[in-house]
Amino acid sequence: MKAAIITIGDELLIGQTIDTNSAWMGAELSKSGFDVYRITSVHDRRDDIIYALSEAAGKTDVVLITGGLGPTSDDITKQTLCEFFDTHLIMSNEVLSMIEDMMRLRNFPMNEKNRRQAEVPESCRVLKNAEGTAPGMWFERDGTIYISMPGVPHEMKYLMTELVLPELNKRFTSQIIIHRNIMTYGTFESKLADILTTFEYELPTNIKLAYLPASGVIKLRLTGTGADYNALSNLINEQVGKLYETIPEFIYGEDEESLEMVIGKLLKYNKKTVSTAESCTGGEIAHLLTSVAGSSVYYKGSVIAYANSVKTQLLGVQEYIIEKHGAVSQETVKEMAIGARKLFKTDYAVATSGIAGPDGGTETKPVGTIWIAVASEKEVIYEKRVFGNDRITNIKRFSLAALNILRKQIINS
Ligand code: AMP
Ligand code: MG
Repeated sequence: MKAAIITIGDELLIGQTIDTNSAWMGAELSKSGFDVYRITSVHDRRDDIIYALSEAAGKTDVVLITGGLGPTSDDITKQTLCEFFDTHLIMSNEVLSMIEDMMRLRNFPMNEKNRRQAEVPESCRVLKNAEGTAPGMWFERDGTIYISMPGVPHEMKYLMTELVLPELNKRFTSQIIIHRNIMTYGTFESKLADILTTFEYELPTNIKLAYLPASGVIKLRLTGTGADYNALSNLINEQVGKLYETIPEFIYGEDEESLEMVIGKLLKYNKKTVSTAESCTGGEIAHLLTSVAGSSVYYKGSVIAYANSVKTQLLGVQEYIIEKHGAVSQETVKEMAIGARKLFKTDYAVATSGIAGPDGGTETKPVGTIWIAVASEKEVIYEKRVFGNDRITNIKRFSLAALNILRKQIINS
């Protein structure tokens, strides 16, 4: 069961509109057991549309098409489909009366453009669109189904959910597909792939592993295909179990969980609180922690201790410590974390001090160096990490590193 997706619209190719339709349709088709083999975006141009349709013809069971069905002259999908299927437009009285009702309801007068939206290719089956004026169109030729839908996302989703997917599910005996995402932090993709060489080699043939890295976090996605849901689910669980055994130090969560979400769960579960004292991260850790809904239960506040005077006056770091060891040092972050914990009366406090760059590095403390400390009731742990040269990337990486140290400390204490 193969499917292709074609999205049509100049706006998609010039970066004006992000093609969210493909992502949504791809996910839905995949859940129904289709192998989505290609997603193509093309301009509102006859030749390009014909090329994309011809390319998909014969190779797939289903071709989903969106866009280019508006009433204006830039939208040419309908005429082009007529050409491709060697048919012509006819007036659909049923669609016309639907459009008339819709326009009356909205208090808009009907015009010629609206009337023309009720014209449909003679050889198609019309998919009535209760959400808008452009109907969907269902064509079949040489064993391939082609479905054209409006580009407006909620109209496309309406047609897909109400008409297209139920019929496709009925027509194709669907294979079951199960995805499981395991979230990892603390290593590189290539290193992870090295460690997981044997795991990958021993994977059952119907389970595939994908590495999906995104700013410091690597998502490992296991995708299994099979005929029986329970058998497949057990098989995937077994493989997930093996992953937990192989890389326990890197796994922090599952599905779309972020470090801050996991920390939130841990703090809530343990009924603990946290505060932050941030120098080089400038509030990024506070921002990440507070972007989780319900964080007010466990997050108290932050001191953005950018200047040394703030480190000393608000956090109680002693001046001689900064003078002797520097602001970017184990001793200073330790004192910052202790100070924040005291100031905010929290169970944990996270402190950061580093050199985000691009200037300010020295031979012993190059750009990208950060000291992170986490204070808890029984101890203060600290760690030095060295990242790269880009300021914004560093701030993001520093913050994730700090969150991961906090997460481990909550688990261990
Ligand atoms: P159209 O059917 O070409 O008139 O599209 C109507 C509107 O839907 C466009 O102006 C876009 O804002 C939106 N749209 C079209 N195609 C997509 C797509 N692939 N993903 C998300 N939005 C889209
Ligand atoms: Mg368009």
